[in-house]
Amino acid sequence: MASPFELTIVNGLAGDPAVCPYFRQTGDSLLFDAGNLEPLSNRDLLKVKVVAVTHTHVDHFIGFDRLIRVNVPHFRTIEVVGPAGIIRNIQGKLAGYAWNLLEPNQVNIIVHEVSPDGSIESVHLSNSNQFLATNPTKTPAPKDPSTEPAKIPLRSSTYNLSAVSVDHGMQVLAYGLSMPDSMSVNKAQLDASALEPGPWISDLQKMAVDGKIKGSIYISGAEHDALQLAGSLLQPRSGQRLIYVTDMIFSEANIKQLKKLEGAGPNVIICEANYRHEHRQKAFDKFHLTTTQAALTAALLNAKHLQIFHISNLYSGDTDSSLAESDTAFTRLRQLDPVALWDEASMEFVSSK
Ligand SMILES: [Zn+2]
Ligand SMILES: [Zn+2]
Repeated sequence: MASPFELTIVNGLAGDPAVCPYFRQTGDSLLFDAGNLEPLSNRDLLKVKVVAVTHTHVDHFIGFDRLIRVNVPHFRTIEVVGPAGIIRNIQGKLAGYAWNLLEPNQVNIIVHEVSPDGSIESVHLSNSNQFLATNPTKTPAPKDPSTEPAKIPLRSSTYNLSAVSVDHGMQVLAYGLSMPDSMSVNKAQLDASALEPGPWISDLQKMAVDGKIKGSIYISGAEHDALQLAGSLLQPRSGQRLIYVTDMIFSEANIKQLKKLEGAGPNVIICEANYRHEHRQKAFDKFHLTTTQAALTAALLNAKHLQIFHISNLYSGDTDSSLAESDTAFTRLRQLDPVALWDEASMEFVSSK
């Protein structure tokens, strides 16, 4: 089954964190973290509508200036999500430059600041208001904060974005991205039908997703029964889910937080694995994960695929050894029953201390 988004790990497995899902259907991108963005072209960056920042350690946020720079001539609005302090962090970056020659409302950023309790403050920063926070709105904390993540009130998107707070010696956000269930077209059936493809296909898909398939569809001037067409051409595609985790310490509290993002099990988890297993004391001291802990995290969240990244430069760019370690661990761990898996995780929580 084709994924509805293409995923780019901008700086490879050992570079600054920046991961960019591109949504084929709408032609826009989301950016998880904004470390070095030089490998992305201006064209790529102009597709970014939303930036989801985990925390503002310099390797996760230094590329944000380039994103602003690329957007300046275009009068676009981007949305940024981040942990407590993100409004001030962005204002700090903007305050580093002079803006006297701009047109009104040329640079616009909507910021969603997620508190540790899951409540969200959204504000508008514009050059017209010297980037002071205006139009504040508050999204209350989830009704059941022990099981629900914070749902980010993005202005318009074809996906849902949720966040939870984890501990990295400071508040860090981990994100869950989910695409709603959709109906895909059975290409073989479409070819066999000899019907001319056109906008009617997306009309039919929309009817199906909304659960309102009725009436007629006109194709090349001929009338067709919508229900019959849907029955022969469409097939349900379950929503894709992705979890993005970086940086955190391997603790029971953090795993409990991430569990709120799990849903029916993510298709993929992108997870930092700064250190190899042999360096787990270092990982503990720096509030980071090891390869084994990334594999445990993925298995505990019932992920189908684990993609590690953010591998420490301690290993001089040798990412293969870390990948081999996490793959071997994940393959073994995902076969354990939940009790045995939790026992192994608990031992790792303890042995980290
Ligand atoms: Zn960090
Ligand atoms: Zn980091």
